[in-house]
Amino acid sequence: MIKISILGGGKEVGRSGFEIRGDDTTILLDYGVMLKGNRPIFPLSIPPREIDGIILTHAHLDHSGALPIFYVSENPRIYMRPITKELTELLIRDLLHLSAYFLPYEALELKLMIEKARKIKRNFKIKNIEVKTFNSGHIPGSINVLLNINGKKIWYSGDINTRETALLNKGEIPNEEIDFAIIESTYALVDHPPREECERKLIKILNEVIEGGGRVLIPAFSVGRTQEILCVLKKHNFKYPVVIDGMSRAATKIIAKWPNELRDYKLLKSAMSKAFWIKGQKDRDRVLKRPCVIITSSGMLTGGASAYYMDIMRNNEKDCVVLVSYQIPGTPGRTLLDEKVYGLNKEKVKCRVEWIDFSSHCGRSELLKIIKSLKGNPEVLCIHGDENSCEGLANEIKQEIGLKAYAPSPGESFII
Ligand SMILES: [Zn+2]
Ligand SMILES: [Zn+2]
Repeated sequence: MIKISILGGGKEVGRSGFEIRGDDTTILLDYGVMLKGNRPIFPLSIPPREIDGIILTHAHLDHSGALPIFYVSENPRIYMRPITKELTELLIRDLLHLSAYFLPYEALELKLMIEKARKIKRNFKIKNIEVKTFNSGHIPGSINVLLNINGKKIWYSGDINTRETALLNKGEIPNEEIDFAIIESTYALVDHPPREECERKLIKILNEVIEGGGRVLIPAFSVGRTQEILCVLKKHNFKYPVVIDGMSRAATKIIAKWPNELRDYKLLKSAMSKAFWIKGQKDRDRVLKRPCVIITSSGMLTGGASAYYMDIMRNNEKDCVVLVSYQIPGTPGRTLLDEKVYGLNKEKVKCRVEWIDFSSHCGRSELLKIIKSLKGNPEVLCIHGDENSCEGLANEIKQEIGLKAYAPSPGESFII
């Protein structure tokens, strides 16, 4: 008997966590946090001494941010790609910096976890469970996972993108019969525009603003999106100055250490050498004196260096903010996009505001294509999406593909 329990990430994005319990082995897949402002919300708990191994699919905090909890009292084995180890340490350190007061662990537990991390390449075993991993194309180092437990096969997508991007090769999935699939549903109800179209739109906007004497702020997630934008600009031979600031700098330096994780390592390296790297406050004031493009964390304007630039650029009609990530309702980025207001007093901004869909997740068509290509008529759990997206995908799978599909809530379990 195998029991799959949803600890978090059911009809929600954030705090992903899935427990897979076999006859004598228990595995945990991801264990992240959902952030409400600076306040983290955790997955349901599981006694650490019952865990035989943890697999982390990628560094993002909605998959990794709660993991150090287990190292307060125990020392469970944890498996991740070497690049994920470095990026996770960077992101959780930042979380500790912002939210220490609300976290049930400290830097020591993070250190213990990172020391304990076993670096995986492709396939390995946790006791009698065989684990195969595949590139997911979502961020550098992201994987999806196939577990073989006494002949029963369970596939977990993690976050996945099956379209090639400027930074990454497209994600791959297993080509063997499976019994159970756990799949993300982030964009189950929408299709993304063609990537080339987004790239051309970005370049057109940047050229217009700079040639009009303005400056452009691109608030971008430090891991993944920053490097994607750098690569897109280089790929299109963008000729104006590009500046990089905030945590985006440290994340880019880590990612550039792992050529095999990237589609075109040379593209990123040459984009990095062409960019101007901010070293301190004097540099910030200097770059703002001329038209340029500034790429910096955070992606939803929740803090970091982007807030500094925003305060200066918001009142200049020539300047422009280009949001390149999904903006969660309630964040400053979303309010700016919807209402053209910013700051504590929600004042109207004068600068131009744009949004371009540079998603690193599958859209609706790609998700359905994945499900159709899975062999063995698996039952499907649709997770990692809002309620409408998870339920919408489960309904579509039932009606159009004819598989059993569910949109579970945290706390629900399934028996195979
Ligand atoms: Zn992710
Ligand atoms: Zn995620």
